[in-house]
Amino acid sequence: MDYFPIFLKLRDRPCLLVGGGETALRKARLLLDAGAVLTVVAPDLGPGLAELAARGQLRHLAETFASRHVEHMRLVVAASGQPALDRLVAEAAEAADIWVNVVDDPQTSSYITPSIIDRSPLVIALSTGGGAPVLARMLRERLESLIPAGWGRVADFARLMRQRVSARIANSDARRAFWESVLAGPIAEDLVAGNLERAEAQLTERLANADDVPRGAVYLVGAGPGNPDLLTFRALHLMQQADVVLYDNLVADVMVNWVRRDAERIYVGKTRANHTLSQEEINLLMVRLARDGKRVVRLKGGDPFIFGRGGEEIATLAQHGIPFEVVPGVTAASGAAAYAGIPLTHRDYAQSVTFVTGHRQDGSIDLDWPMLCRPRQTVVVYMGVATAPALCEAFIRHGRAADCPVAVVERATTVDQRVLVSTLADLPDKLAAVQIRSPSLIIVGEVVQLAAQLGWFDPRAGGDPATIGGSSRGTF
Ligand code: SAH
Repeated sequence: MDYFPIFLKLRDRPCLLVGGGETALRKARLLLDAGAVLTVVAPDLGPGLAELAARGQLRHLAETFASRHVEHMRLVVAASGQPALDRLVAEAAEAADIWVNVVDDPQTSSYITPSIIDRSPLVIALSTGGGAPVLARMLRERLESLIPAGWGRVADFARLMRQRVSARIANSDARRAFWESVLAGPIAEDLVAGNLERAEAQLTERLANADDVPRGAVYLVGAGPGNPDLLTFRALHLMQQADVVLYDNLVADVMVNWVRRDAERIYVGKTRANHTLSQEEINLLMVRLARDGKRVVRLKGGDPFIFGRGGEEIATLAQHGIPFEVVPGVTAASGAAAYAGIPLTHRDYAQSVTFVTGHRQDGSIDLDWPMLCRPRQTVVVYMGVATAPALCEAFIRHGRAADCPVAVVERATTVDQRVLVSTLADLPDKLAAVQIRSPSLIIVGEVVQLAAQLGWFDPRAGGDPATIGGSSRGTF
């Protein structure tokens, strides 16, 4: 982060504006809106500023700027439009340790002003670091349409009621849950619609029945195969409300950053030092946190109910009477298939699809081979790259054609995705020649041949099909 965002209290504080034209006028209006005591230095004022001066809303010094003008100021804005003069203003302010903005010149400024959506007291400030004003404007338009004008009233109401709610609900977790339910429900709708009295009556009633003990719960949430765009709305919503988040290797860092800022994040995956929590320890940790009243999100890669031990985790919760919810995610097989252009079922090639794990148990791969080798079927092998040679050999031995197509999809759906297409007979040699990184899965079946025709994802283009070109779309 190059700039640290803050909201300044300018009310009754002296601020200096240098310049008398249209740009200066826009800045003057904003500063006055925030209650600043404004001095404008400019030999001449344009009509807008002249009118403000005549109404006594600002003090006009009809002089050329001099360094002494910055003395005792809290904030300085250089808006003369004359680069040399504006630079002088910036230097004087900087020398006096006063924050200064030169309009349209982030380089010379010590602070920059954001794009603003004003639903006072709700204010959204948006910045692209001064580098992409058009993008900032586009985002602002989107946010404007997303946030109804009445939300200012919601913020006002929350501010007014804050004391009352705090006095009634002492526990901070319980209080947060109370506010979340108020702000997401009919009370907020009444406020947006302007029914203030009804909103207050409802709040009073809710408050009388409010629970002062936070109710903990666990949300077992599928985070999808790695591309944050594939997260569900429900997952994102719960992540932003959680008090604690437990996550492991398969969950991308960017997603963990979408968790509520002050939520506790607990990494429960394998570390380099190998201090791994056992499954049993994770299960009991969740029980303990929920008992403490925390809303716990257990983020799991892909779908929690597919090779994720999700069933075991919630069985422990159920035994201990902890409320829980399961949020499905895009499982790696779906993600890999979609992003490699391999439909898992297809009228001409496969009527069914089976997900298996290639993980060895007690040294052998314990799978129902006759079932997996029936024709017109796709088999997706999770956790199977390490045992791939043995898997290919077993498929052939149990009757699948040696030239049956196979794909290995590495880091599916992410910008690091790579796809290796081969056959059951050739895959072991091909794998020996390349380094496959984790996580990867294997797709076996006739549908794999469609990848050449249906592959659309170009990791280098960040996944935008409109920019696909060339031939090496993340292949080996
Ligand atoms: N619950 C997860 C699977 C966990 S098992 C899900 O539904 O996807 C872990 C295995 O999933 C890995 O060994 C790998 O085979 C597969 N996997 C997970 N993410 C993947 C990805 N982005 N690309 C390819 N394989 C992936």
